[in-house]
Amino acid sequence: DDHLARIAASFTIHPDFPIKGVNFRNILPVMRDPQLFGWLIDECVARIKDKFSQPIDLVIGLEARGFLFGPAIALRLNCGFAPIRKPGKLPGKLATVSFKKEYGEDVFEIEEDAIMPGQRIVIVDDVLATGGTLRAATQLMEQRKALPVGTFVIVELLGLGGRNRVPSCEALFSFSG
Ligand code: 5GP
Repeated sequence: DDHLARIAASFTIHPDFPIKGVNFRNILPVMRDPQLFGWLIDECVARIKDKFSQPIDLVIGLEARGFLFGPAIALRLNCGFAPIRKPGKLPGKLATVSFKKEYGEDVFEIEEDAIMPGQRIVIVDDVLATGGTLRAATQLMEQRKALPVGTFVIVELLGLGGRNRVPSCEALFSFSG
């Protein structure tokens, strides 16, 4: 469809960023044009409504680019939004999960009272690559006793193993990694 094609055409590719051998897909240009950005949010909301059981109680956005899209999607779904952040950014009582990244360990945190047991949650991020990030976020939600957790990304990079770590992830676009 025309809107999807025009959104995809706005994405840029950056070979060897941030390190040699990585083909970085940059989705940020879509936000420079309000018509394109509006269409993108429309498409995200339509796909989430179509694929995940309703009602959705909470959208969770992953630091940092999940913060750019998550709140707009949540508003349109008429549900709440909460961020998952890197350590040291959130105040108060926190739930945490640690996970392996390509180089060493990383930690994710969420405010403990952001999630109530039994809530229906959709986690959003910009890109699914190896899947380590979304998988850790899913584990954090399960730890908080959320109901089956949906995961949604704008772009899935194929061939990097993300599909194996987060099999049910819904992606608006798939490109070769
Ligand atoms: P993963 O944990 O799936 O390997 O990596 C996904 C995380 O790294 C996401 O938070 C995403 O923002 C970032 N990431 C990895 N590769 C890319 C890429 O090519 N483009 C963008 N925009 N983000 C990426």
